[in-house]
Amino acid sequence: LSERLSGIFDKLTRRGALSEADVTEAMREVRRALIEADVALDVVRSFTDKVRSRAVGADVIRSVTPGQMVVKIVHDQLVEMLGSEAEPIDLNAPAPVPIMMVGLQGSGKTTTSAKIARRLTQQQKRKVLMASLDVRRPAAQEQLRVLGEQNGIDTLPIVAGQSPTAIATRALQAARLGGYDVVILDTAGRTHIDEPLMIEMAEIKAIAKPHEILLVADSLTGQDAVNLARSFDERVGITGIVLTRADGDGRGGAALSMRAVTGKPIKLLGTGEKSDALEDFHPGRVANRILGMGDIVSLVEKAAQNIDMEQAAKAAEKMRKGIFDLDDLADQFRQMEKIGGMQGMLGMMPGVGKIKKQIEGANLGDGMMKRQIAIISSMTKEERRNPDILKASRKKRIAAGSGTKVEEVNRLLKMHRQMADMMKAMGKQKGGGFLGKMMG
Ligand code: GDP
Ligand code: MG
Repeated sequence: LSERLSGIFDKLTRRGALSEADVTEAMREVRRALIEADVALDVVRSFTDKVRSRAVGADVIRSVTPGQMVVKIVHDQLVEMLGSEAEPIDLNAPAPVPIMMVGLQGSGKTTTSAKIARRLTQQQKRKVLMASLDVRRPAAQEQLRVLGEQNGIDTLPIVAGQSPTAIATRALQAARLGGYDVVILDTAGRTHIDEPLMIEMAEIKAIAKPHEILLVADSLTGQDAVNLARSFDERVGITGIVLTRADGDGRGGAALSMRAVTGKPIKLLGTGEKSDALEDFHPGRVANRILGMGDIVSLVEKAAQNIDMEQAAKAAEKMRKGIFDLDDLADQFRQMEKIGGMQGMLGMMPGVGKIKKQIEGANLGDGMMKRQIAIISSMTKEERRNPDILKASRKKRIAAGSGTKVEEVNRLLKMHRQMADMMKAMGKQKGGGFLGKMMG
């Protein structure tokens, strides 16, 4: 039944839907863009499959081509997959909160350690201690010490000959005794993933019990990104990802690959060699860069906005005249559906207590919105303009057409009557009442 209802709904609102052929055509372009951006091949495949099923049958906004519409859908899906909101570093644990940095050699762990320490110190007024556990590269500990000095961050005094786990133990102790809020453990990498590295990381983790384990990876990492992220996540267990060299020429496909295989958030971007070159991760920006089609995305967004504005202007004009027919009611339902349902909407509107009760009485929960739209959709144009002509036989026809009951049709009409009266009253007020003001 609900399928039939939404079928009716679709037919009436659709300006033209994306066909299988539209989507296949546009997907070829999208696939190429993703591969050029160095997204791992299996991720490209599973991603495009997912989007394809979502795109076929979707409505095309007026003044936009089907191909452009597909790109917008792909973009939105990309943003969703990358993680719609920026996730900060989590310090919600007893101090000193241990943060462990892991990754391959040269990925930017040491540089990023200093960047994060600097940010936590300056922006969040935390007292941070940094410790280098890199005993492999001769100058590694000295590198971190110098960065600390340059940025006014304390580093654990260097003691020659200690193992990484011994340094970790000492760092935690020093952080506790020194009253530090955060202790950042910078580890050694390898040029590639190997067993000794994973064992070393697991040992450090067991001792330090880090609250955050951040995988630091070069955003230019290509097809290796999947293997890299999966290995570190499976063997060590990461809590987030930092992508460095986002200032480079790459299009950052690694972001999608790593997020897709681990499901762990990308928390920060490194955007340069200096210690202040650290930015929050903005999925929208990164999605544009990966897709390389930001202009199309903004075109479609603009077209959608124009249509919303046209509709709002029309509604405001009618309201000024005190007109509120069933087409307007259907529009309201659709808008409400968009912005989080009836209950949320009514909660924001003053002076609608009576109607709110009416709606609750009509069991008009959020899932019921489509049902109401279906009832209105089963009416003729004339009936929607002038509901007074709706007598018993017409109501019966409408109920049958929308798969509902005559009582439901009656409840809807009663609600419409009340809203129309309210609109009329507000239309008479100077300035058009609060809705008039709201809609410009
Ligand atoms: P580690 O081996 O993982 O500790 O890597 P390092 O922190 O020593 O960084 C290796 C090189 O990459 C250094 O020359 C850094 O200056 C450089 N680097 C690190 N992060 C970035 C970044 O976000 N952008 C750019 N352009 N260079 C970076
Ligand atoms: Mg290092």
